[in-house]
Amino acid sequence: MLSTQLLSWYSENKRNLPWRGTKDPYKIWISEIMLQQTQVATVIPYYKKWMNSFPNIQVLAHTNYDDVLKHWEGLGYYSRCKNIHLTSKVLGKDFPDTFNELIKLPGIGEYTAKMILAIAYNQTEVGIDTNLERIGFRLLGLKKKSKFNNNRVKNFLETIQDKSKPGDFNQALMDLGSNFCQAKAVNCGSCPITVYCKAALTDSPLQYPEVKKNKPIPEIQVAVCVIIYKNKLLLIQRPENKMLAGLWEFPGGKIESGELTENAVIREIKEEINLSIKNVEYLGEVKHQYSHFKVIISLFSNTVNDISSLKIKENYIWTTMKGLDKFALPKANYKMLELLNKDI
Ligand code: SF4
Repeated sequence: MLSTQLLSWYSENKRNLPWRGTKDPYKIWISEIMLQQTQVATVIPYYKKWMNSFPNIQVLAHTNYDDVLKHWEGLGYYSRCKNIHLTSKVLGKDFPDTFNELIKLPGIGEYTAKMILAIAYNQTEVGIDTNLERIGFRLLGLKKKSKFNNNRVKNFLETIQDKSKPGDFNQALMDLGSNFCQAKAVNCGSCPITVYCKAALTDSPLQYPEVKKNKPIPEIQVAVCVIIYKNKLLLIQRPENKMLAGLWEFPGGKIESGELTENAVIREIKEEINLSIKNVEYLGEVKHQYSHFKVIISLFSNTVNDISSLKIKENYIWTTMKGLDKFALPKANYKMLELLNKDI
């Protein structure tokens, strides 16, 4: 049987990951959220540091959000971190063991709820993410992505699931995906379930399911200024309802079409924080890519002597370079700091 073969391979070859071997729903929940859109190798150090600082949900719930966010800094998709902290506060101590309760919690969707239930509570659930879906399409030899075919894959995986080891079944498929059945590479010759796979019988298993062409990623031009006052830098906290929520950054904004970068930074600083700056110093350009767009940042600095007109809607702070360590910054801001060759 497919699942017997799969589980037997898994018991010999499973990856040694720090969240494996636990039934603690808190630890499984954190690992699953961290793993969303993020590679295992990237997650491992974050997960270890997180568990060192926040070994259980009570500790997490009682930690200040800025400290929690600092542990997430660089992992991206920051709403995940916000939702984890919110959920820890909602739950306090007890972790639910039903699908209906789990999915009501901030940031817990169908996939995460099912993985928690399967791994922590041994319930017969299959959490289908893009990896498992891809394997299902290949096993069934389905090409076309459609609601109907997605349902066929879901029913198929639920039918073949080993009811006695639901957690292992889910994790075995994840490991199989990572070892043999990736989106852009397959190793059907070594795959332990190749005899059950229809795509493996074809010349092009990678075409299962069909791959949509990626749209070109838009580029956004931005002008940013490091404002220096009394040897301290101005950082502004990003609002809760925006991307990179809660992170701290230098002020600035989009360059309008046809606008000179220097004029743009002077205008943005006036609009954003009501400071009139002049004689800005150009420090260089920083490029950074997010999942859906690229940003090209023209970086300036300006030392000011009078901040009496300063008006900022969000939280802000004046800090030394050393003091920056306490704040979670977007990756692009770290690249900017490399250009800021000043002794502050
Ligand atoms: S046989 Fe090939 S295509 Fe089929 S599941 Fe294994 S690696 Fe994927």
